[in-house]
Amino acid sequence: MGNTIGKIMPVPGKSSFLAPIAEKPPEPGATCRILIVDDDAPLRHTLSNALSKTGRSFDDCSNIADAIFLLERNAYELILLDYLLPDATGLVLLDWLAERRRGEAVIMISGEDAIEAAIGALRHGADDYVRKPYHIAQLQRAVESALHKTTLERANRLMSQRLRDSERLHRYLVESAPDLIFTLDLAGCFNYINPRVESLLGYSREALMHCPFVSLVVPEDLDHAQSLLAPDTLSSTGFTTELRLRRGNGELQDGGMASVAVSLAGLPILDDQHRVTGLYGVARDISEQKRAEEIITFQAYYDQLTHLPNRVLFKDRLELAIAQAQRRMGTLAVMFVDVDRFKLVNDTFGHAEGDALLRGIALRISATLRRGDTLARLGGDEFIILLPDISQPEDAETTVNKIFQALSTPFNLSHSDFRATVSIGIAIFPRDGTGAEELTRHADIAMYQIKRSGKNGFRFFDSSLNTHHRERIALENDLRSALEQGEFELYYQPQVDLSRSRIIGTEALLRWKHPAHGFINPAIFIPLAEELGLIGEISRWVLEQACHQLALWRHDGHRDLRMSVNLSSHDFDNRNIIGIVTDCITRHDLPPTSIELEITESMMMRDDAGVAAKVRQLRAAGFGVAIDDFGTGYSALAYLQKFPVSTLKIDRSFIRDLEGPQTSPIVSAIVAIARGFGLQLIAEGVEQRTQAETLRALGCDIMQGYYFAYPGSASQATHWLQAPPEAVLL
Ligand code: C2E
Ligand code: CA
Ligand code: CA
Repeated sequence: MGNTIGKIMPVPGKSSFLAPIAEKPPEPGATCRILIVDDDAPLRHTLSNALSKTGRSFDDCSNIADAIFLLERNAYELILLDYLLPDATGLVLLDWLAERRRGEAVIMISGEDAIEAAIGALRHGADDYVRKPYHIAQLQRAVESALHKTTLERANRLMSQRLRDSERLHRYLVESAPDLIFTLDLAGCFNYINPRVESLLGYSREALMHCPFVSLVVPEDLDHAQSLLAPDTLSSTGFTTELRLRRGNGELQDGGMASVAVSLAGLPILDDQHRVTGLYGVARDISEQKRAEEIITFQAYYDQLTHLPNRVLFKDRLELAIAQAQRRMGTLAVMFVDVDRFKLVNDTFGHAEGDALLRGIALRISATLRRGDTLARLGGDEFIILLPDISQPEDAETTVNKIFQALSTPFNLSHSDFRATVSIGIAIFPRDGTGAEELTRHADIAMYQIKRSGKNGFRFFDSSLNTHHRERIALENDLRSALEQGEFELYYQPQVDLSRSRIIGTEALLRWKHPAHGFINPAIFIPLAEELGLIGEISRWVLEQACHQLALWRHDGHRDLRMSVNLSSHDFDNRNIIGIVTDCITRHDLPPTSIELEITESMMMRDDAGVAAKVRQLRAAGFGVAIDDFGTGYSALAYLQKFPVSTLKIDRSFIRDLEGPQTSPIVSAIVAIARGFGLQLIAEGVEQRTQAETLRALGCDIMQGYYFAYPGSASQATHWLQAPPEAVLL
């Protein structure tokens, strides 16, 4: 196949820029095609023989029409064209070729010896003219030179095509580049700038032409830019730097930033003598990257939710403050602040509300602090405050009081108002420690102590707390293994109905027989178990044990006996509490009415549908549900409507104060409420005969307390069932 000039001249167009340049010079050995157009058949044959060479091939024809036919299908390097042909003169073919801008070289061969014919042929585009008769060597020379010429021309065409393509390619790349690309003259003014300037900075290219580059630089970076661009200091290898460029006004109206951070690479333009004549510049928008860097820094040192410093930054500031306090022999305070009942808010109202509350608390606490103090969030509901310069420990107390004051107004959460309280532990430098870590830990221990003794308060660290703390950790470890080690036992306290003079039920109360410390009070280890997430397992064990015991007693003939079991609020987080209880009574063949589950008022406070629905389900399944310690917490009659409980247990603090029917408006009120709602009433903590009598007079017949019996072991309780204590017969 010959070289295919006509077909493969690249047609410039966007897509062809990046395509390899199609036209190639003829490779050595490739076929060079020659067309012989002559009506003299023997001559055509002679010619092709005479001109034959390796790599050449010949077509021939006898008239213009056939020649055109062949030319329309093939490309040739050379045409040997007779002047006079049967259908027209060779000039017609020359015109045909010219019109189509064909690349074939043409040698006109003619018997016409008139010079006009030669001139006419050359004028019509022939490359050479050979007059008949000719010497074969003469023709060979003409052919060689014509072919040589076409090769040159083609190379030439190819070169300029490549140049054009390359030019277009580079222009295309520059003009559509995502970077700002420009050239500056010696005076530092733009003499080329790509269109990116419009989207990046909001200026038109035209407006910037011949303006100084530095007019785009923000004032803060101006000195730096000017020193970089000074031609005498410009290094031949160029520079890279970061600068901020000003945006045009148009962009600002969109609320965009006033400047764009760019990384700028500059390379001097040199002439033959290596003198600087200008500068190439490429500027890349790195504002996104800058912002990301800022965010990362922010994230490393600040809390995302409250935008307060985080633990890391706090530690930094504390260490600095300690160093300064050491130098000036000063005093500083670290205050550990923990939000009380925060988990309740989170569980009850959801995380969004919880987050809003934390932000609100952060704001209010911040407002009580002085400049120079630091409030940081350690995570969860824990905050920490640094007062870097106080004159005496009592100054910290002043701040604490301001914080309590600031929190005294309830927060408006979207469902209800919430009065947040906090527990604060304070450690003082140098009294309570000299290192950042130590001070923080001691403030934490003091805070923890407040939590244990009822929350909503503050306390200074004192070194005896440290040992308590260690004991607590030891206790935690022991509690984890108590169940496995069989260290738990259930005690039972009778509930008596004085109107019938009999024991109608027992409350199951958990006991932990610690191998070293003896009996440990449930008031101590139950909250610990809740905190450690062990309560679910423990409650299950209690239920199992209580049901087992009740089944034994029923088997012994105490058919109407009931069993009260205490549940923790965490048991209600366990979705399947109903399943667990139901399964338990089924296995022990107990009717649901024989089981009463005791829940506390604070659980009802958790206003979410979940708890209410579970109480309703338990009641629907036939279980009794009692509100324990009624009257102490957030009692509201509205809860009683929402939670269809069966029993109220009057808290023993009201019983303690009971001296005669007139002296107890609260117990009277609770009795009235129970009647109004059709609820059973149990008075607990009855220690004296007079209390029992007063309760009866008020209309409360069911009681529980030391007056009748202390909680006792299963065998002890079995004994009471057989022979009730005397007091029951009152
Ligand atoms: P609670 O449910 O209010 O239990 C009644 C507490 O009052 C018991 O304390 C009982 O021994 C005590 N008590 C009974 N009669 C009198 C009296 O006449 N005077 C006085 N001062 N106290 C009396 P205990 O056994 O130490 O239990 C303390 C708390 O621990 C219980 O309070 C209950 O909230 C929790 N608890 C006990 N067992 C369990 C359990 O199995 N599961 C759960 N979740 N909590 C339990
Ligand atoms: Ca109870
Ligand atoms: Ca109680």
